[in-house]
Amino acid sequence: MTETGHTGESARARRIRANLDAVRERIATACAKAGRPADDVTIIAVTKTFPASDVRILADLGVLDVGENRDQEASPKADHCRDLPLTWHFVGQLQTNKARSVARYADVVHSVDRERLVRALGARSRVENRTLECLVQVNLDTESAPGVIGPRGGADPRDAMAVADAIAAEDGLELGGVMAVAPRQGDPAEAFERLYAVAQAVRGRYPRAKVVSAGMSRDLEAAIEQGATHVRLGAALLDDRGPNVG
Ligand SMILES: *Cc1c(COP(=O)(O)O)cnc(C)c1O
Repeated sequence: MTETGHTGESARARRIRANLDAVRERIATACAKAGRPADDVTIIAVTKTFPASDVRILADLGVLDVGENRDQEASPKADHCRDLPLTWHFVGQLQTNKARSVARYADVVHSVDRERLVRALGARSRVENRTLECLVQVNLDTESAPGVIGPRGGADPRDAMAVADAIAAEDGLELGGVMAVAPRQGDPAEAFERLYAVAQAVRGRYPRAKVVSAGMSRDLEAAIEQGATHVRLGAALLDDRGPNVG
């Protein structure tokens, strides 16, 4: 990449631009391998622990989808960036008592894994007079059991359709599709294949629910191979966070 035309760009902006170029290359290669067009996959920049100034740099580079996993951090950051045409994705585990705050700024909530949360988000988005897109978070841990939420969030695959039904039936919410995080151990492609089966079933019943949010910095290739439409990238774009977070 030549730097021509980007004089005056800060060192941080140059760094993020280089990271973004590398990530786009990885996505293009994975898409080509899967026989999919590269623009099939949307990058969500997960900016948790990084400052609002990084969100501005990303927006300048054309990355307008931003993800956060904690309301306490996301809410002021979204406020700070109100002048930018961003889509805010809430990707972290969500307590029902935070639904009120999240419904103010989030456009998409990826971590909807139980009916009580569906009702709380629906009630708050109606109060705010907004429509929140919701994804069903699916727990891909192999020891997952029906009726139990995963340790990092997520409904058991056998419960996912009931959560999808609840979202679709709730005024103020729109069912967007499904989301998952690969288990810490094992082959991510195998896990994402199970997510894809859930995604297909949900899409069979709700044809507009096309989103498959899967893949992080480490495993985006496996996710794209298994049909991801959205990848959630932190480290690959913004470098490593401190040791205590993420
Ligand atoms: C932090 C986070 C990501 C991004 O992870 P990286 O490994 O930094 O790419 C994606 N999804 C969720 C739910 C996260 O919490």
